[in-house]
Amino acid sequence: MQKILNYINGEYVEPLSKKWLDNYNPSNGEIYSQIANSNNEDIENAYQAAKDAFPKWSNTTIDERSRILLKIADLIDEKLVELAEAEAKDNGKPLSLALAVDIPRASANFRFFGNAITQFASEAHESVGLNTMNFTLRQPLGVVGCISPWNLPLYLFSWKIAPAIAAGNTVVAKPSEITPLTAFLLGEICTEAGLPKGVLNIVHGAGPSAGQAIVEHKNIKAISFTGGTKTGEHIARTAAPMFKKLSLELGGKNPNLIFADCDYEKMLDVTVRSSFSNQGQICLCGSRIFVEKPIYEKFKKDFVEKVKQLKIGNPFDAETNIGALVSKPHLKKVESYIKIAENEGGKILYGGNRVTVKNFENGYYLEPTIIEVFDDQCRVNQEEIFGPVVTIMSFETEEEVLKMANSVKYGLSSTLWTSDLNRTMRISKEIEAGIVWVNTWLNRDLRTPFGGMKDSGVGREGGFEALRFFTEAKNVCIKYEAP
Ligand code: NAD
Repeated sequence: MQKILNYINGEYVEPLSKKWLDNYNPSNGEIYSQIANSNNEDIENAYQAAKDAFPKWSNTTIDERSRILLKIADLIDEKLVELAEAEAKDNGKPLSLALAVDIPRASANFRFFGNAITQFASEAHESVGLNTMNFTLRQPLGVVGCISPWNLPLYLFSWKIAPAIAAGNTVVAKPSEITPLTAFLLGEICTEAGLPKGVLNIVHGAGPSAGQAIVEHKNIKAISFTGGTKTGEHIARTAAPMFKKLSLELGGKNPNLIFADCDYEKMLDVTVRSSFSNQGQICLCGSRIFVEKPIYEKFKKDFVEKVKQLKIGNPFDAETNIGALVSKPHLKKVESYIKIAENEGGKILYGGNRVTVKNFENGYYLEPTIIEVFDDQCRVNQEEIFGPVVTIMSFETEEEVLKMANSVKYGLSSTLWTSDLNRTMRISKEIEAGIVWVNTWLNRDLRTPFGGMKDSGVGREGGFEALRFFTEAKNVCIKYEAP
């Protein structure tokens, strides 16, 4: 059986813990690999390698760092099919999605930060009258920790690692124990690209042991974390007494506001995608759909019709739109919300059942599910489900829909469909979300800040925001004698 080893100091090594976790293929429910289940000693080893690599890497020229990041990006592109197949097998997502989105975005992350670092320079100004010159040094932090979730495995792993190493830090990184495969393969890509030993150390294992050990390590200066809100809260509590720098990208319950004056056909197509891409397991999926009353009945009918056409199947079938959910416990959690919806008086307009896929009978397949709700405070409308389940509800006024959109504890992203520019501006200002997409969804320019408000997180990733997070700003003030 395949073994997922740690990648420490440029070598694949067995865990000192001698412990392993089973790794499942969600499309057929079979165990296909064993993952290193690292303990404190493994994390310490990874830390030591990163610490030893730091002095040289942090003094490596920007051009050289950039060259290596761009090389990693090229190698990811060269291995597109191998990596996409690994992602589909490990996560259950359609291979077509991994080929079109996950892996190209991982290489884009390395390419983007490989280029961005060449433009990231210190600011300087003269304090006239005080006869001083001020400038800001942007220094790497040292050894930093990156912890990522299972839904977009290599995409989100690289979104943290690329800016961290571009800025001159060295890294101890842990992917999700549910989807470790592409992070494992990234090790050999980094070696091939000439990344010096110890700059990136990839450790595997369970969150409460391996992840916790990274957060608790007193010399790991910063934690960049993407995952659930509860885990984020726990990490914040653990890290606070050590005054670690924290970036937390957490859960969401994103509203999709649809006004009658929108481009209806375009909205309908995109809303199907924003609801069910990656089996609804994207933190940015629009899981609460609010539709203006005049088009509500039509929307309900057309949306159900379109969703019926989605093909649920094994991830490797080119026809598949909806693959398997990531794990059995997750499938059960998502199903439990369908029961909750029924108990709360929600109406299942479509879906709600498991699907048996021929030759993949033990896979974790669930129909895309549309629930009509009548009270925006009900649990299915308030709590993150993170699966192929959306709620729909009608509204009459802009004020009413804004109130409902903002009445959850989360504030990650939002989508607005309208042709009214004034309304666009009003809602963009009032909505409590880190991202507002207007007449589009998941349209990402990597220069823009990315992150959430409220319980969706703290801090922003993307563009120079990420490079700022991974550097310490130090003001240098030089006094000069006036002539
Ligand atoms: P999770 O919080 O269970 O796990 C995320 C990572 O944290 C994993 O690597 C896990 O091993 C690790 N971890 C768990 N406990 C830990 C601990 N005590 N200390 C340190 N690390 C620990 O989340 P998940 O189930 O993997 O991912 C789904 C969640 O991620 C959803 O809530 C989703 O909304 C969120 N998410 C957010 C974004 C965003 O950008 N805001 C993006 C993707 C996913």
